[in-house]
Amino acid sequence: MNPLQNALAQLAKAAKLAKLAPSVETAVGGPMRTIEVKIPLLGDDGQIRYYFGYRVQHNDARGPFKGGLRFHPAVDLDEVKALAFWMTIKTAVIGIPMGGAKGGIVVDPKKLSIPELERLSRGYVRAMRDFIGPDKDIPAPDVNTTPQIMAWMTDEYCQLTGGNNLGVITGKPLEYGGSLGRTAATGQGGYYILEQVVKKLKLPKSKVTIAVQGFGNVGYYFAKLAHEAGYKIVGLADSQGAIYDERGLNPEKVLVWKEQSGTLSTYQGGKHLSSQELLEQKCTVLVPAAMENVIDSENAKKIKASVILELANGPIAFAADKILNDRGILVVPDVLANSGGVTVSYFEWVQNLTNDYWTEAAVLAKLKPMMVESWEQIWRLSVKLKTDLRTAAFVLALERIVGAMKVRGMI
Ligand code: GLU
Repeated sequence: MNPLQNALAQLAKAAKLAKLAPSVETAVGGPMRTIEVKIPLLGDDGQIRYYFGYRVQHNDARGPFKGGLRFHPAVDLDEVKALAFWMTIKTAVIGIPMGGAKGGIVVDPKKLSIPELERLSRGYVRAMRDFIGPDKDIPAPDVNTTPQIMAWMTDEYCQLTGGNNLGVITGKPLEYGGSLGRTAATGQGGYYILEQVVKKLKLPKSKVTIAVQGFGNVGYYFAKLAHEAGYKIVGLADSQGAIYDERGLNPEKVLVWKEQSGTLSTYQGGKHLSSQELLEQKCTVLVPAAMENVIDSENAKKIKASVILELANGPIAFAADKILNDRGILVVPDVLANSGGVTVSYFEWVQNLTNDYWTEAAVLAKLKPMMVESWEQIWRLSVKLKTDLRTAAFVLALERIVGAMKVRGMI
């Protein structure tokens, strides 16, 4: 099943439990608008090449569309539709007044020069200018997109519209309307959830071991925070390979290695594995923090972790979810576990609209109770409904989304 089929299967399961009528399930399931564009890029070699870009605006019943943009060769429309749908669920789960969207460009950004990357980013905004805006749809970073890319995009939008509309995009650099705490926010939120899981399951903290697949912004900050808090990080992986060391790894040292040599997988020490093999190693908490569908019905049977904390979007295929649940492995779903990123994006947007900028302590002091409260609500609902945390999160979100659609006359 591709990510969209997985997402719709998750919806169908929750819709049944929430007793939604089929017409309501359809109203929530499909995107409100899908935009597909062809972006011309003048290459450094003087040739024009075309790149395909997407924006799927899934649902804005609770507030403006919100969600990241990814630059990746595997981007396709079904993937973006699934990711946009998960954003709608995510913003509702964490309770911010926004809807869900996602976008992307089919490109390997590593193959572009910096000036080409800038021209492509600006080209995306020119193609999408009528559809985005601080009160319409607010993009943000996702896989392979950075604060610098967000700055080029925001600048392009401001030039096109002739105003300082900094709230059009979040995840910007601090020099240009960014929020303190945004870069680390997804990992930070994931860490707050880890603390709750350890408390709830009464795990002995000194014995908890963690393996993280994905060493981009999300995986790195999560591993760093967990390491600093005294958890043992036994495995780390990027797209090229993994390292596993029962004695523990220091994520900051591994980052220095990756920056110097281009990959972490040649790091001196520990066992060297493929990124996929890391998922099956011994650890207490497994943290997929890279791409979708990395856990399927085959490797779900081999996972040794007792908890999976989803920091990637959609890392577990629908069929694998059932196997993991049956095996008693606790899955903390993406729509809760990685919602710290979009929550601090929302804070950034509020700061841009009010021109009142917050300290990092103020950002974290607002983020933590929101994450803890959502975790508690979902845990209680999962106990009450006798279901898994993902389905409980969907039921909670659907109540809020359908509620807004009803009062607005959309259903
Ligand atoms: N790309 C991130 C996500 O999947 C953040 C989205 C945002 O900040 O709007 O949640």
